Amino acid sequence: WRERLLGGFKKTSDRLVGNLAGLGAGRLDDATLDEIEEALIASDLGPATAARIRARLADEQVERGMEELGIRLVVAEEIEKVLAKVAKPLITDKARPQVMLVIGVNGSGKTTTIAKLAAILKDQGLKVMVAAGDTFRAAAIGQLRTWAERIGVPIVAGAEGGDAAGLAHEALKRAEAEGIDLLIVDTAGRLQNKRELMDELAKIRRVLGRIDPEAPHDVLLVLDATTGQNALNQIAVFKEVAGVTGMVMTKLDGTARGGVLVAAAEQYGLPIHAIGVGEKVDDLRGFDPNEVARIIA
Ligand code: GDP
Repeated sequence: WRERLLGGFKKTSDRLVGNLAGLGAGRLDDATLDEIEEALIASDLGPATAARIRARLADEQVERGMEELGIRLVVAEEIEKVLAKVAKPLITDKARPQVMLVIGVNGSGKTTTIAKLAAILKDQGLKVMVAAGDTFRAAAIGQLRTWAERIGVPIVAGAEGGDAAGLAHEALKRAEAEGIDLLIVDTAGRLQNKRELMDELAKIRRVLGRIDPEAPHDVLLVLDATTGQNALNQIAVFKEVAGVTGMVMTKLDGTARGGVLVAAAEQYGLPIHAIGVGEKVDDLRGFDPNEVARIIA
C-alpha cells in the first residue's frame, strides 16, 4: 500500500517540488524567502505553515550546494510536525453501540468512506451496521445498500424523502437490539441551505441523544481534497452546524492539492483519522505523518 500512498501524493509532491524548483540557490535573502513562502502557499500548505517554514529557513539558512534539498528537508519536517498533532486513529470502543454520524457535502466521498470504514472495522471483528440517513437522494440510499451487501454488513434504510432523524432513531434501536458495536449513519450534505442542514443534523443528534445521551460519539467530516481551499471553508461551516470530532480527507490520489491536508491540520487542529486514496473499498489509510511529509516534500 505504500506505493499507493506514494502514488496518492505524487501530484501534490510534483507541484510543491516544482514550485520550489530553482529557489534558494545561493544565500536565502529576503526576496528569495518571500518567493519560497509564496511557493508554499501556492502549494496549499496554508499561510501559517508557510510563514513558519520561512522563519526557520531565515534562521538556519542551508548548506551551500544543498539549497534545494535543504529547503525540502525543512519543509518536510514542518509538515510532519503539523500532521503529527492531528493524526489520530479512530477509537472504536467508546460505547456499545458506538454511534458515528458521517457528514460532508454531497460528492465528497461520504458513502464510499462509510463503506471503506465498515469493511475495515468488520475485518477487525466489530459488528458494524450502516444507516442510509441521506434520505434526499435515492442514489445515495441505493449506493450504500450496494456497498452494505458487498461488504456483508446490515443496513437500515427507508424510502427516498423519508425523515432522516426517524431513520437514525430506528437504526440505533435496531443496533442495540442486535448487539451492534458500531453504527455508522450517513447524512445528507446539502450545503446550499445551511439552515435546513443545521436543523436536520440537530434533529438527528437530538433523537440519538434521547436513546443514548452520549450519542453520537463521533461526528466524522468527510472532505474532498480536490476542492482545495473550499475544503477549508467546509470545515468552518460543518464545525458550526454539527460539531465535528474528526475528519477523513478523500481523493488524495490524483490531486495536486493534497497540501490542503496540512492547511486543514494547521488551521483547525481537528483529528484526522484517515485518508482516502482511491475508489476501491481498501483505499482508506490511516496515515503516518512522517511518511506523508517525506512523500509530499
Ligand atoms: P457522497 O456523495 O459524499 O456520498 O460521495 P460518494 O461516496 O458517492 O463519492 C463520490 C465519488 O467520489 C464517487 O465516484 C467515489 O467513487 C469517489 N471517491 C470517493 N472517495 C475517493 C477517493 O479517495 N479517491 C478517489 N479517486 N475517488 C473517490
